[in-house]
Amino acid sequence: MDNAATQLIRERCDEVRRRIAQACVRAGRAPEEVRLLPVTKTVAAERLREAFAAGLSEFGENKIQEADAKAERLADLPVIWSIIGHLQTNKAKQVARFAREFQALDSLRLAEALERRLQSTGRGLDVLVQVNTSDEASKFGLAPEAVADFLRALPAYSALRVRGLMTLAVFDPDTVRVRACFRRLRALRDRLRDMAPPAIVLDELSMGMSGDFEIAVEEGATVVRVGQAIFGPRPLPDSHYWPDAGGGAADQR
Ligand SMILES: *Cc1c(COP(=O)(O)O)cnc(C)c1O
Repeated sequence: MDNAATQLIRERCDEVRRRIAQACVRAGRAPEEVRLLPVTKTVAAERLREAFAAGLSEFGENKIQEADAKAERLADLPVIWSIIGHLQTNKAKQVARFAREFQALDSLRLAEALERRLQSTGRGLDVLVQVNTSDEASKFGLAPEAVADFLRALPAYSALRVRGLMTLAVFDPDTVRVRACFRRLRALRDRLRDMAPPAIVLDELSMGMSGDFEIAVEEGATVVRVGQAIFGPRPLPDSHYWPDAGGGAADQR
């Protein structure tokens, strides 16, 4: 029944899951602790149908306009959408309309905008707080030192179900530096877990992409965001898809 494209996606997913499982063994973890979020930015809606046929039903998108357009094209399928990229306040309405999860919360203004839109639609949103663990000016996310105060303010937004933290590691071939970013996020989560208000649950650590998800799993990731290892290389360098990130470093992916 599967066409060749569906078969290929299935094989690549199996391979990613196998590598996740191996990383889990190395870290003494259970593979069920790690959720694989397929990242579908730049992948056409029709290929997402093939991915759905391969058993994927949850897709991560970096840009809200692209996600919105695909959600409309795939409205007949029970797809779960996760927005994983920086969001401008004026786009909160779109997220509130169809996303299940938002992984890049980094300002109270945005929390406020999302809350207002969610309240008016009667929906809730799973939320991860994005943390800048590489200290690069080009990266979005809160400075680690700012996260504690930020979390204390979040219970005011009752439609946001805070689940954990998200980060992008430094883009560097030196895995020691990459691993340091993941360790930093985990240490922060462990420290904040005890002081966080009761409504704030810090179970999730979203970290790791195609190039570094095994390191992330070894360091405690509960969500890995994997695009190219499943859907193949993107035609343009990442600086094209992350124009706000300021080019350069992102191209190394
Ligand atoms: C694109 C993207 C990913 C996935 O990157 P791949 O190299 O395709 O695995 C993960 N996280 C974010 C925030 C992204 O924008």
